[in-house]
Amino acid sequence: MSDKPRFALAIHGGAGTISPSEMTPDREKAYRGALEEALRKGKTVLEEGGSALDAVEASVRSLEDHPLFNAGRGAVFNADGQHEMDASIMNGADLRAGAVACVHNVKNPVTLARRVMDKTPHVLISGPGAFEFAHREKILLEDDQYFFDQFRYDQWQKTKGTDAVQLDHSDGEHKYGTVGAVALDAQGHLAAATSTGGMTNKRWMRIGDSPLIGAGTYANDASCAVSCTGHGESFIRAVAAFDVHALMSYKGLSLAEAVRVVVHDKLPPLDGDGGLIAVDRNGQVALDFNCSGMYRGWLEADGALRTAIFRD
Ligand code: ASP
Repeated sequence: MSDKPRFALAIHGGAGTISPSEMTPDREKAYRGALEEALRKGKTVLEEGGSALDAVEASVRSLEDHPLFNAGRGAVFNADGQHEMDASIMNGADLRAGAVACVHNVKNPVTLARRVMDKTPHVLISGPGAFEFAHREKILLEDDQYFFDQFRYDQWQKTKGTDAVQLDHSDGEHKYGTVGAVALDAQGHLAAATSTGGMTNKRWMRIGDSPLIGAGTYANDASCAVSCTGHGESFIRAVAAFDVHALMSYKGLSLAEAVRVVVHDKLPPLDGDGGLIAVDRNGQVALDFNCSGMYRGWLEADGALRTAIFRD
């Protein structure tokens, strides 16, 4: 990337133990196509001079609409056979943030999170309160059938009735999902957003890192914007997203170095399998993970769309 790109964008569609042998050419094409589509949505906003906040919302909405990812349509089943979704968004310019946790039937939880930020004095609204707010705001709802996905249903059947919880997106033992986006706009502002269905067979009302500002999502114009994916409980304990900002602000690390420290030094001792994407105020992007793969995409300085799954 050049020193100072006009704008920057990176997205993820979850990290985990993704086995190259299970990745058929058709599957890979579908994932890459969905990631490119989400990048295009955010890029269009940024090209037209829109805000980083609008760009991350547009990219995350696109990923939420795609059943391949564990967010919105395609969200995993909880222990009660329901889809309970979490999402958050943060504006780096003024540190405003909005989030929702344990919401049902909301087509695009990231947009509800944005509405919490824009229309309420609160940061995080959960469960029935968030659902009532969605109604009041005329946020698009879908019936249960819209969220049904046979693959996710089969995943749930394997753990149903047990205490086992399972993260999405893996062929092996560790499974992750979640989607997110980070952006820098032409005005020099940063934003981040994250959305998830959480973990298969999670307990009723379990809340992961994704809707928690500082854990799964953080943005601050002074440093960077971050969106995480992985074992939520560990990311909460590590305050992972904020830690990238803290390492840059207080210790003077570069974005790449701060991301490396969090992903490879701080998270593993906490069983924090997963990864994160981040962008700094100069438009440098970092996409790093400590497991075998992370569905991800970013814009090159020349505007070209890039996607990757494994460590290339
Ligand atoms: N971090 C999410 C959670 O724990 C899951 C994921 O990233 O796949 O809810």
